[in-house]
Amino acid sequence: MPFQIFEAESKSILSKTTGFIAQAGFSHSLTPARNCTFGCTYCYVPTMGIYGGLKPEDWRRWGQFTTFKSNAPELLRRQLGPDQVIYCSPLVDPYQPAEEQIEAMPRILDEVLARPPKTFVIQTRGPLILRDLAKLVELSRSTHLRVSFSLTTNREDVRKIFEPHCSTIACRIETMRRLRDAGIDTFATLAPLLPCNPEKLAGMALEVTERNIIGDALHVRAVKPRGATTRETAITVSERHGVSDWLDPAFQKSIAARIDRTCTSAGRQFGTGPEGFRWLTQ
Ligand code: SF4
Repeated sequence: MPFQIFEAESKSILSKTTGFIAQAGFSHSLTPARNCTFGCTYCYVPTMGIYGGLKPEDWRRWGQFTTFKSNAPELLRRQLGPDQVIYCSPLVDPYQPAEEQIEAMPRILDEVLARPPKTFVIQTRGPLILRDLAKLVELSRSTHLRVSFSLTTNREDVRKIFEPHCSTIACRIETMRRLRDAGIDTFATLAPLLPCNPEKLAGMALEVTERNIIGDALHVRAVKPRGATTRETAITVSERHGVSDWLDPAFQKSIAARIDRTCTSAGRQFGTGPEGFRWLTQ
C-alpha cells in the first residue's frame, strides 16, 4: 500500500501510562510517530481518537500516512529517567514500514543507550528490527530490554486478509529466532488472536522463544464496553470470510484454553490481558 511520510515537532515523546499498560506495570509509553503504516484491519488505535493523541485525519485515513516526531532525540534527552519502565509503543509499531526510510529508531535507541531506563520494551511485528540488532544487544547490557513480537495466526491466508501489509508468518518466526539467538529477551505475543489452529500457533511461538507466551483476543464491546476496541474494518472482514465466531467471547475463551493447554504441556504459561503483559515488566 502506498503511504505518505510526514515529520513534525512534538511537545512530548514519553507519556505517563494509564489503563491496560499501566495495570501491566509500565510507567511510561514512548511513541515515535502518529498513525501506523502497517494499517492492520483490527487496529484498536484509531478507535481511541483524540485520546490516542490522533487527529481526525489519522483515524479517517488509518495506515495511509504517518507523522514522525522530528525532535524525538531532544525530547528524550530531557524526559528519560533511570526508574522508568517504558513500553514502545501502544500507539504505533516502532518498526512500521515507513521507519525503513526515516530511521527514527536508531536515533531513539542512541538516546535510550545514553540514559538507560529500568526496563525498555519494544512491541513490534516488523522484521526491520533486525537492522538495529547491534544497538539492541548493546542496550540489553544496560537495561532490562525485552522485545514483544506480535504473531497473530499460523495461517498465511488469514494474515493476508486481516493484516496484508505485515510480513509473512515465516519471516516473523525467523525474526524472533534471530533476536533470541542474539541473546535478546524475546516474547511471542499472540495478539490479537486471529483465526488459527491454536495448538500450531502456540507450538510455533514456543519453538522460537524461551519465555511464557502472551496473548489477547480481538477486543469486543460485549466484554469491553468502553475505550479502545477492534476497528470496524476487521468486523466487516470477519463477516465476509465467515469467521465472526472469533469475535465471540465464549469462543475466544475456548481458544485461549487450548493455547493454555499447549503451553502448560511444554512447561510454560499462557497469560492474557494485563496479567500476561506484566511478564514484560518483571
Ligand atoms: S502494527 Fe499495531 S499499531 Fe500498527 S496498525 Fe497494526 S495493530 Fe495498529
